[in-house]
Amino acid sequence: MFKAFLIKYAEIGLKGNNRFIFENALRDRIKEALHFLGDFEVSKEQGRIFVECPDEYDYEETVAAIQKVFGISSICPVAVIESSDWDTLTQGVGDYVEAMYPDRNFTFKVEAKRADKNYKYTSPEICIEMGAYLLKRFPEMKVDVHEPSVRFTVELRTKCYVYSIIIPGLGGMPVGSNGKAMLLLSGGIDSPVAGYMISKRGVSLAATYFHAPPYTSDRAKQKVVDLAEKISKYTGKIKLFVINFTDIQLYIYDQCPHEELTIIMRRYMMKIAERLAEQENCLGLITGESIGQVASQTLQSLAATNEVCTMPVYRPLIAFDKKDIVEIAQKIDTFETSILPFEDCCTIFVAKHPVTKPSIKVINKSEKMLDEKIKEMIETAISTVEVITVG
Ligand code: ATP
Ligand code: MG
Repeated sequence: MFKAFLIKYAEIGLKGNNRFIFENALRDRIKEALHFLGDFEVSKEQGRIFVECPDEYDYEETVAAIQKVFGISSICPVAVIESSDWDTLTQGVGDYVEAMYPDRNFTFKVEAKRADKNYKYTSPEICIEMGAYLLKRFPEMKVDVHEPSVRFTVELRTKCYVYSIIIPGLGGMPVGSNGKAMLLLSGGIDSPVAGYMISKRGVSLAATYFHAPPYTSDRAKQKVVDLAEKISKYTGKIKLFVINFTDIQLYIYDQCPHEELTIIMRRYMMKIAERLAEQENCLGLITGESIGQVASQTLQSLAATNEVCTMPVYRPLIAFDKKDIVEIAQKIDTFETSILPFEDCCTIFVAKHPVTKPSIKVINKSEKMLDEKIKEMIETAISTVEVITVG
């Protein structure tokens, strides 16, 4: 029945001359999403994207794939009518109605759009004439122009299209239309959601995970790889950097007051992630922090963590309650993986009574104990980083 999909854009942030960047990125993302599902033709046409389907394809799978692409407001499966010749058109629309709606006790309205301004009917005339045709062919249907239960939209272009199903898209902007950022990805609930949210605004992702073997196991690392894989369904390819953080953590543990451990560790994570971000041409860092969620996320702690990097740090969950974060995690299918009970490098070295109001001055003083040696350790960690590409 559906030989094509008409895709309507969501918000176009970059208007005017830059609009094509958005449109091309969206077209390319849809192409990528459908690449493994068959031979689909994806093209731009007058403020829309058209996806033409191969003779054989799986409808559900195709819709599900397009639904994961950011930048789409709606997806309309369309029936294609080969010619705009009036008899062919009315017949085609009538056949569509007959096939789609076996029970026709409903109210409807016809909406029309025509690209060909020389067509023998204007858009309002098409609506009236098509409505009359349908009423005659299906007397059980009734017109309601204000609140119809079904709207049939007929678009006349080179070919003609009719649709009545509108599947919502995710909104946002196509990935790649807004630069790249480095996500600090742990195995928790929050950071995958944070990455998803920033990527939804058109940002492609790289990710860094701080691994502390043997304190954190291979399974903990695999969990992070799995999470990256899950969000890559939306964001496209992700280059995941796995930093071996053990020596740095042990050294901080040896040298610094234990109640400051988490904050100092978080500061080193930010520093290292920023270095990798620069290497990868990222324009910002992303974390899953949320005010007050844990001791390391009070305003004082966030200020202390933030102090060590100059790159902007995007924290999309900053004002979210946990339950709202969980809801998104469930929606994007990361939740079940996130709650698997593997150890995390932050919890292993955590102090019984961590500071909740760290003073930046005091933290800086404690970090003096780490002197030159930590710089070397950072270089080693960066030069021995493991890179895993997912998606
Ligand atoms: P999450 O659920 O994302 O792990 P969290 O509530 O456990 O967050 P923290 O452990 O304080 O919070 O971490 C705050 C943020 O720091 C995380 O959202 C993540 O961006 C980053 N982070 C923490 N641990 C790691 C890690 N091992 N590797 C990479 N990033 C990390
Ligand atoms: Mg965590």
